[in-house]
Amino acid sequence: MSAISASNIYKVFGRRPEAAVKQLQAGATREELQKRGNTAAVIDASFEVEPGEIFVVMGLSGSGKSTIIRMVNGLLPLTAGEMSIQGEPLSKLSSSELLKVRRHKVSMVFQHFALLPHRTVGENAAYGLKIQGMNRTEREAKANEALEMVGLGGWGNYKPGELSGGMQQRVGLARALAAGTDIMLMDEAFSALDPLIRRGMQDQLIELQQKLGKTILFITHDLNEAMRLGDRIAMMRDGRIEQVGTAEEILNDPASNYVARFVADVDRTRVLTAGSIAEPPYAVIGRELGPQAAHKLLRENQPSWLLVVDRQKKPVGMVWEDDVAEAVRTGRHDLPFSTRHEMPLVDESTPVHELFERSAQHRSPLVVTDPDGRVAGVIPRVTLLAAVSGGVTEEPSSKEAEGANL
Ligand code: ADP
Repeated sequence: MSAISASNIYKVFGRRPEAAVKQLQAGATREELQKRGNTAAVIDASFEVEPGEIFVVMGLSGSGKSTIIRMVNGLLPLTAGEMSIQGEPLSKLSSSELLKVRRHKVSMVFQHFALLPHRTVGENAAYGLKIQGMNRTEREAKANEALEMVGLGGWGNYKPGELSGGMQQRVGLARALAAGTDIMLMDEAFSALDPLIRRGMQDQLIELQQKLGKTILFITHDLNEAMRLGDRIAMMRDGRIEQVGTAEEILNDPASNYVARFVADVDRTRVLTAGSIAEPPYAVIGRELGPQAAHKLLRENQPSWLLVVDRQKKPVGMVWEDDVAEAVRTGRHDLPFSTRHEMPLVDESTPVHELFERSAQHRSPLVVTDPDGRVAGVIPRVTLLAAVSGGVTEEPSSKEAEGANL
C-alpha cells in the first residue's frame, strides 16, 4: 500500500472552483481561468509515494508545491480527485478522523522552523507529543531521544533564539521525529539555510532516513537539492506534474522540453552513477574457456580486450588481444590474464565524478559490479565522456573508439 496516493487531484482557488475544474477538463488553459478570476494551483496531478521513500516535489515558485503538501496533510480540501494516506481516502474521513491523521500519521517541517520562541528547545521538540496527549515524562524522554538523533543532545534547556539557523531547523526536524509518525512532510525545509549548512542538513536527512525508514515528502525549488535527496522526483510546472522519475531517469530521459531545459545545467557527474551509464558487457568470456575461444570472440566482436568471469558472473580479470594472439601462437591452454593491467572494479552506485581518476589510470574499461559482486556492465572511457556531455553513445562509434583504446 502506498504511504501517500494522489489521484487526479485538482485545487482551484476563487469562485465556483468545481465549475473551473470542468472547464480545465474540457481543455481550458490555466491562463483562461486566471482571466475569470480562478487560480488553478494544482491540475490533474497523480503520484504515489511508497513507504520508506524520499519523494521530492520540485518546481519553480508558484508551480503548486505548497498547495500539494497542504492537501496531503488535510489542511486544504481538494477541489477534485482523491488523496489517500496509507490507503485511507481523506475525503471519506470526518473532521475528527482527519485531525487524528494529522496528529498521528504525518508531521511537518517548515521552512521558517515554526518554533515557539518562549518555549525551550526540549519543549519545542515535544510539542507534537503534547498535542497527541502524551504525559510529560514520556514526551520528555522521546523529545530527548529525537534531539540526540539530530545531534542536539544537551541543548534541551536552551531557547530557540540562542541557537543558529541550522540548529533551529534541527529542532524542527527533532519535533517531527519525536512525533513518531510514519510520514514526514518537509516544505522547503532547508531553503532558509546557508549553502554549507544546508548541505550538512541534506546529508543528515539522508542518514536519518536510512536509519529510520520514514516516508518523506520533500518540497523544494532547488533542483540540485531535489536530485540529491529524492529517491524519486515529481517535476511540476504551472500546477501540473510534468514527470515523475528518479534523478537519473529525469536527466537521461526528460519527458518534455521544459524538463530538458530545466535539467540542462545540472552537474550530471554528481547525479549519474556508474550503473546508469554502464554498457552491457558484451565482450565477456568464461574463465574455463581457452585462448582459442578468446581469439574467436575477439575476431567476431572486434574489441581489444575480453572480460573474464567465473560461473557466478563475477569478474576475474581481463585478457588483451595481443596476449591472446601470443597464447594461441605458443599453444597455451589457459587464458593469458594480463598482469600488466589491473582490472578497475567499481560498484554500480559510485557517482560518475568519482570515476574519472580510475578511468585515467587504466587502459581497460571500468568494470561495474552489482551488490553481489557480479558484472553489471563496463564503462569504456569514451562512454564516460559521452555520459558527462549529455550525449548518447551509439554502439558502432563506441566500439570503434574502444578498438582504438581511447
Ligand atoms: P509553490 O509552493 O510552488 O510556490 P503554491 O502552491 O504556493 O506554489 O501556489 C500555486 C498557485 O496558487 C500560485 O499562483 C499561488 O498564487 C496560488 N495560491 C496559493 N494559495 C492560494 C490561496 N489561498 N488563494 C489564492 N491563490 C492561491
